[in-house]
Amino acid sequence: MQFFKKQVKPFVVAGPCSAESREQVLETAAALKGVSIDLFRAGVWKPRTRPGSFEGNGAIALEWLQEVKEVYGLPVTIEVAEPEHIDLAMKHNIDVLWIGARTTVNPFHVQRLADAMKGIDVPVMVKNPVNPDVDLWLGAIERFQQAGIRNVAAIHRGFSGYSSPSFYRNQPNWPIPIELKRRKPDLSIICDPSHITGKRDKVAEVAQKAMDMGFDGLMIESHLHPDSALSDAAQQITPQALETLLRKLIIREEFTADMSKSMELEYLRQVMDSIDAEIIDLLARRMELSEHMGLVKKESNMTAYQPARWQEIVETRSQRANNLMLSKEFIISLYELIHHESIKKQLSILQDTSKEVKK
Ligand code: PEP
Ligand code: MN
Repeated sequence: MQFFKKQVKPFVVAGPCSAESREQVLETAAALKGVSIDLFRAGVWKPRTRPGSFEGNGAIALEWLQEVKEVYGLPVTIEVAEPEHIDLAMKHNIDVLWIGARTTVNPFHVQRLADAMKGIDVPVMVKNPVNPDVDLWLGAIERFQQAGIRNVAAIHRGFSGYSSPSFYRNQPNWPIPIELKRRKPDLSIICDPSHITGKRDKVAEVAQKAMDMGFDGLMIESHLHPDSALSDAAQQITPQALETLLRKLIIREEFTADMSKSMELEYLRQVMDSIDAEIIDLLARRMELSEHMGLVKKESNMTAYQPARWQEIVETRSQRANNLMLSKEFIISLYELIHHESIKKQLSILQDTSKEVKK
């Protein structure tokens, strides 16, 4: 069994954003021990976006985490961002290391950390990079795997952007972790609703969404007195609130043992498969028409792209979608792809000197 995979999901990582004092760490661990978490987290070196805020207590806090292990028998994890951090973490028997979002973006840095872990084989959790780049995330994961780390998990903590006030602190951009899972089906993915939402009253909602999407675990920041936390105060929840959140969580599995439900799904999938075949056949016919239109436009010296026609497509298709209760945004994005492909085809015809109109 992989370290991060549990028979009954989710694998729960919880603890304060930062290790603030020995008392805070030990008292939080005592409270979280009662919530039956799997791994206790606390940031020791904090990567703060701007200087001047609390940057963690450094190496001394590793001793507090060691006490958590000894007194409560809880495995512990910290963020490492420098090879020295790894060295110190190992000297203090830290069980699991995590790589922060601001570190994952830099392949040079990630490689230095992976090199420093050669021969250690400590479990590692890799947060997504701050930008929505699935290859960069995957690349970091592969660097640790290639360094011989057998237990690597991904943490989805959302993606930052220049945003107007929004529901999220970091946009979840769910298709990205889904694509990561498609490319690496055996990888455990843990969702961090604390950093995604940035607000404590939204954490449960996103935690449930992660379960609905089939994530393996949750990393949730928990503080005894969230309002007075030295970092990420707005998003931390009390151990008691964490207990309630976990108790209310509906756990979903990818498969069901219920035969009649499996058969019903199988039937629906077959219908869907044939609809998809029709959609693809229709798209192929549409592209043939595009090709023909490209030849006509070429002969009459017209542009491939015609703004008025595109405007008409957007209006008529979104109106039709609306009548059928389909989301307008969805249909527009779909048509952006279709129209783009069609224009690409026509451009290649305009640029090709060998083609003539078929009469
Ligand atoms: C954290 O977990 O406290 C943290 C700094 O996370 P991230 O790297 O996701 O910002
Ligand atoms: Mn934090």
